[in-house]
Amino acid sequence: MVCIFMCITAIAYSQQNEKPYVILISLDGFRHDFPAMYPTPNLNAIAREGVKAKAMQPCFPTKTFPNHYSMVTGLYPDHHGIVANKFYDPASGKTFALTTAEKSDPSFYSGEPIWNVAEAQGIKTAAYFWPGSDVPVNGRYPSIWKAYNKHTTLAQRLDSVVQWLQLPPENRPHFIAIYLDQPDMAEHEFGPLSEEAKQQVILTDSLIGIFQRAINDLPVADKINLIIVSDHGLSETSKEKAVKLEDYIPSRWLEYPTTMGNPVVFLKAKETYYDSIAFAVRSIPHVKGYVSKKMPRRFHFGKNPRSLDFTIIAEAGWSIITNPPELIKKGNHGYDNREKDMWAIFYATGPAFKKGYVQQMFPNISIYPLIAYLLGIQIPPADGKLRPVRKMLK
Ligand code: AMP
Ligand code: ZN
Ligand code: ZN
Repeated sequence: MVCIFMCITAIAYSQQNEKPYVILISLDGFRHDFPAMYPTPNLNAIAREGVKAKAMQPCFPTKTFPNHYSMVTGLYPDHHGIVANKFYDPASGKTFALTTAEKSDPSFYSGEPIWNVAEAQGIKTAAYFWPGSDVPVNGRYPSIWKAYNKHTTLAQRLDSVVQWLQLPPENRPHFIAIYLDQPDMAEHEFGPLSEEAKQQVILTDSLIGIFQRAINDLPVADKINLIIVSDHGLSETSKEKAVKLEDYIPSRWLEYPTTMGNPVVFLKAKETYYDSIAFAVRSIPHVKGYVSKKMPRRFHFGKNPRSLDFTIIAEAGWSIITNPPELIKKGNHGYDNREKDMWAIFYATGPAFKKGYVQQMFPNISIYPLIAYLLGIQIPPADGKLRPVRKMLK
């Protein structure tokens, strides 16, 4: 009896062990052109052993939460509901923000994150700070997750992941998503072309190298597919390139105060001022204004009521001063996803990927079906398709 039980358990373990591993690391704000500007020997080595994309196109708006959540749900922000890092939800009257309890309110989050899909199909998953992973979306978390703490160093996060990959097979995650908040922070503070940003690019690249050497020593090394992405790039900004919204659209025309989202702002008009705003948004210099519902198709944005009546977007490098005003720093993002400064990176290596293949730019919503393909799981219908990335696979 004992033998039968042990044999069955051993078979279950070995089947679990046979399954592939997918590790997804995001380097916040890592511009697609950084590897051409700064030394990134470890990313370059991944491109030689595996694949790299010329760029990966973020969703609009090119902000952190909408894009991280798009990668793990395969949905445009309009469809998954996280339409910005901060926004007002007219249906509930609540404001979503990264620094308040609303960030952890699952009612803001639609779609089915890839960790939920994998767990439902018997695959253990883990996440270290990936946006959405510390929220019980549809009542579930990854098997291992961490409440966000920006003070946890990048090295601590990666060290933990190496340990998770050595857990006993029954607890070991086969999908792990990791979020690193650099070089984004340095780029906001000092500008994307600053020495400080360059140093963070060099640091994050070298951490990737250290991490890769650590996982290469593990018994499961040859089953790991490692994917490195970013969520968006950054443009240089300055106090001189700023437009004061109040000069064109007085606050008294608005139903709700503008939620801070520079360089993208959503406006809800008081009924009597709708036409005045529709007229005024056309004439603001260095800003493009749209009736949200009528935005050009390429944005895949504006139908969600959270984008309110109007979506206004500053030209790359410009800022919109809202009320209350937000501090203008030396770098920012959120702009039109057609802007090259906003384009992100994609590097991948492992048994599923071709060697030395260079991929054309593709939309980041394809990450969802790509992970599902690598894990061998079925996903619900999504905006993102596998086809744009199919050629990089063996
Ligand atoms: P931004 O550059 O404005 O798009 O936002 C990036 C910021 O989001 C980073 O500096 C992080 O501190 C923050 N952030 C990233 N992940 C989380 C999370 N899971 N919870 C709360 N804040 C987060
Ligand atoms: Zn970001
Ligand atoms: Zn940022």
